[in-house]
Amino acid sequence: MNNICCICQKEKLSKNEIGLTKKLINVKTKDYYCIKCLADYLEVTVEELNDKIEEFKEEGCTLFK
Ligand SMILES: [Zn+2]
Repeated sequence: MNNICCICQKEKLSKNEIGLTKKLINVKTKDYYCIKCLADYLEVTVEELNDKIEEFKEEGCTLFK
């Protein structure tokens, strides 16, 4: 599995970063983003993305297990 950030090439992205990319961009995407680059891309803050992760976890989203 290619879990490298497609922008900054950060390696070993966390499950949360990959889950969030899938959830917010496209579940079939092969271009993963680290949380910082994803925040830049979506023009939100890292804090907002962390809140989203917690929300998705509470919903029981399988991408974050
Ligand atoms: Zn990155």
